[in-house]
Amino acid sequence: MLMIGCHLSASKGFCAMAKDAEYTGSNVFQFFTRNPRGGAAKELDMEDIGKFLDIARERGISHLLAHAPYTINPCAAKPQVLEFARNTMADDLRRMDNIPGNMYNFHPGSHVGQGIEKGIELIVETLDMAMYPSLQTTVLLETMAGKGSEVGSRFQELREIIDRAALGDKIGVCLDTCHVYDAGYDVVGDLDGVLTEFDKVIGLNRLKAIHINDSKNPFMSHKDRHEVIGGGSLGLDAFKRIINHPALRALPFYLETPNDLDGYKKEIAMLRDLYED
Ligand code: FE
Ligand code: FE
Ligand code: ZN
Repeated sequence: MLMIGCHLSASKGFCAMAKDAEYTGSNVFQFFTRNPRGGAAKELDMEDIGKFLDIARERGISHLLAHAPYTINPCAAKPQVLEFARNTMADDLRRMDNIPGNMYNFHPGSHVGQGIEKGIELIVETLDMAMYPSLQTTVLLETMAGKGSEVGSRFQELREIIDRAALGDKIGVCLDTCHVYDAGYDVVGDLDGVLTEFDKVIGLNRLKAIHINDSKNPFMSHKDRHEVIGGGSLGLDAFKRIINHPALRALPFYLETPNDLDGYKKEIAMLRDLYED
């Protein structure tokens, strides 16, 4: 069965997300680890999580993807900004490790003029500070669109981060279809070629999740503006090939498209229809 779901609001806790997952037809889902616009994170409510895990088991919900706030910059130039990112990630990983089987996705960050090399060095330091040997959670680097000075829009950059991190065996990759297309990987015209390249540079064994989004902008635009599935430059046929591709079809897919819950529900039903059992 296709593992697909959407981004859900975590503000009312995990049991509330289970309800939203059921409403939308999600058997996997993503949520923010904290309010992306800042503020301290709440400690996890372990009673809520305990109940959630029972519901999840019953309903076949799995592969929770915790998304770090997109406002942190793990390779910032300003010391206070960098420290904030490091403290946030360390605190997120400590809290999220209470949820079995969960994954933690983050944007590698923007080097803000320091150069890609320096950016990679700082990201590796950030990971080394936030991760610890007993960590159960798989940490995912997200493929980026290459907007501004973003690090991680080339597969090689992600490979270097994984290679240089002390606990690289706990690190995987989340491929965002909008981002890679904006970055210049042609998942519409040459999906096989892109995946072959991914395998050669990073290794498909590292690919753990897909952010499934259409793009408002053309190929190689380096923009990062998500569109509803089939409404953008990738188009519905491309998504049909993506969800059914032998190298991808068993992975969890997460929608981050501009939708409310009803919109997500329709999108998920449509993609389930296109999945070849
Ligand atoms: Fe993201
Ligand atoms: Fe994404
Ligand atoms: Zn994006």
